[in-house]
Amino acid sequence: MGKIYQIYGQSAHDMTVSLLEASDAIRLVPAGGSVALKPNLVIAGTPESGATTHPGVLSGCIEYFRAHGVRDISVIEGSWIGDNTMRAMRVAGYAEVCDHYSVSFHDLKKDKTRAVDTAIGKMEICGRALDAGLLVDLPVLKGHGQTIMTCALKNLKGCLPDKEKRRFHAMGLHRPIAALGAYMRPRLIVVDSICGDLDFEEGGNPVTMNRMYLGTDAVQLDAYGCQLMGLDIASVPYISLCEQFGGGFTRVSADDLVELNHPEAGLSSTPQRPSGIVGRITRNVQADSACSACFAALARALYVSGVQGTDRMYIGQGWRGKTIDGLGIGNCCRGASRCVHGCPPTAEDVLAELTR
Ligand code: SF4
Repeated sequence: MGKIYQIYGQSAHDMTVSLLEASDAIRLVPAGGSVALKPNLVIAGTPESGATTHPGVLSGCIEYFRAHGVRDISVIEGSWIGDNTMRAMRVAGYAEVCDHYSVSFHDLKKDKTRAVDTAIGKMEICGRALDAGLLVDLPVLKGHGQTIMTCALKNLKGCLPDKEKRRFHAMGLHRPIAALGAYMRPRLIVVDSICGDLDFEEGGNPVTMNRMYLGTDAVQLDAYGCQLMGLDIASVPYISLCEQFGGGFTRVSADDLVELNHPEAGLSSTPQRPSGIVGRITRNVQADSACSACFAALARALYVSGVQGTDRMYIGQGWRGKTIDGLGIGNCCRGASRCVHGCPPTAEDVLAELTR
C-alpha cells in the first residue's frame, strides 16, 4: 500500500503540479527515461461533461516533468470503439496543450501491439504503453453503465487496440480489466475527481467534487474511489480480482491519506447549480456554502440509495454553529439532531446513514 496524496481546488493544472511535487513523483522516472501520459479520452467530450480528463492535468504533468529534466514526454490514448481519437483530443482541449508545449499525441488505435502473458492468458497491448519509461495513468473518477465505476484500472483499457477492447466486452469486462491492471501495474496515478459523471463513462450528469488525488497503487486508488462514490467494493468485482492477480492492495486506511489542503479550497465562488439527475435528487436539500466534495458525497449517496433529498437535510458552512432539526451532512452541521461527521464525509458514510 502506498500513500494517497489528496488536494482540493479549482485549477486542474495547479492541483496536479502540487500533487506531483508533494509526492516527489520524479523519483519514479528511470534515469533518461520517457514519460507517457495516459488520460481518459473515452469520447469526444469536454471535462465539464464529466467524461474526460481535464487538459490542465496534462499541462500540469508536462510542466512538472519538464522542470525536472524529463525531455521525452508524450500523450497516448485511444478513444472507445466508434469514436475518433483525434477528434476527441481536439474537443477535450488536448490539441492546444500539446501544441503549446510541443508534446506529441499518439492515437493508440494506430499503434503497433504486442502479445503479453497475463493472469488470464495472452493479451494484445499497444507498444507505446508497454515501452514508456513511466506510464502515468490519468483517469477520471466516474460512474460506468456496466462496471458501476471506472477509475485507475479501467482507464488502462485505452492502451488496447479496438479488437482487444471488443474481446474484453465479450469476456464480461471484469476479469480482463483485472488481468490488464495486474500486468501493467502503473507506478503513478493522478486521479481527476474534479467533475466525474454520476453513472456513465460518456458523461451527461457531472458531479463537481473539485478534488484530485495521487497514488502508486491503482487497486488501492480504485478502492478509495469506491468509498468516495458510496459504493461497496464488491459491486465492482475487477478491483478485488486485480488484487488476487497481484496488481495491488484494496486496503485503504486513514493513515494512508496525506491531505495537502482543506475542502474549502474547492468551494466555488459562484453557487453550484447541479443539473440533470444530480439537480433533481438534491433540489430540496438545504445547502448553504457547501464545499464541492461535501455536496458530491451527498449527491452520490442519494443516487446510490434511491433516497430523494429533502428540506430536512442540511449541508454547508452556512450551518456552522447552528442548531438544526434534521440530518446534517459534514462537520459544519454538527448542530443537527443527526449528523454524518467528516470534513468532508465520504459518500459511503452518508449512504450508511441514509439506509440505516
Ligand atoms: S464539513 Fe463544511 S468545511 Fe468540511 S467539506 Fe463539508 S461544507 Fe466544507
